[in-house]
Amino acid sequence: MTIKEAREKSLRGGFDTSDLTDAEMCLKAEFFSALGKSEGWIGENIRMCTGCGVSCKNKEITAWGKHKGWWNGQKFTGCDSDVYDYDGQWLIEMHCLIDHLAEGGTIEDFFSRLDMKI
Ligand SMILES: [Zn+2]
Repeated sequence: MTIKEAREKSLRGGFDTSDLTDAEMCLKAEFFSALGKSEGWIGENIRMCTGCGVSCKNKEITAWGKHKGWWNGQKFTGCDSDVYDYDGQWLIEMHCLIDHLAEGGTIEDFFSRLDMKI
């Protein structure tokens, strides 16, 4: 998939990226959500902390929905932010792009590999 194709698919999924640079587009959750809708990405819900961004399992969450983390002998490691359930695969792909860029990859390279991965 090229960046142009990703933009077209995002538009089909309900999010117009025409006013955004490539970098701005890739930082929009709405873009990945719309791209996933257009591509038919299906995945399990993801439970994630809104503060530190880690995925959380039930044992890491307080009864009132905050990120508790794991007991490390002195205190819990969580950041005490809200934990939400997010809707699936698009969020994983967005995280993969950010990891890819942090490792020195390019946006073009990420999207060209996306076709092969899914
Ligand atoms: Zn957290």
